[in-house]
Amino acid sequence: MDRYVCDPCGYVYDPAEGDPDNGVAPGTAWEDVPADWVCPVCGADKDQFSKE
Ligand SMILES: [Zn+2]
Repeated sequence: MDRYVCDPCGYVYDPAEGDPDNGVAPGTAWEDVPADWVCPVCGADKDQFSKE
C-alpha cells in the first residue's frame, strides 16, 4: 500500500500504522481513510497529501 505525505508539514500517512488516535485502524489503505480525516499534525485535508 502507498504512503502519502502531507505537503504543508511533512507528516507521512503509513497504511501499516494508520492513525488509531483518530479512528483509522492500522492496515487502512489511503483510499479507505475517511474523506473528513485531517492531518493529525497540522489539520490539512486529504487533498493536500501527495503520494510519497
Ligand atoms: Zn500536516
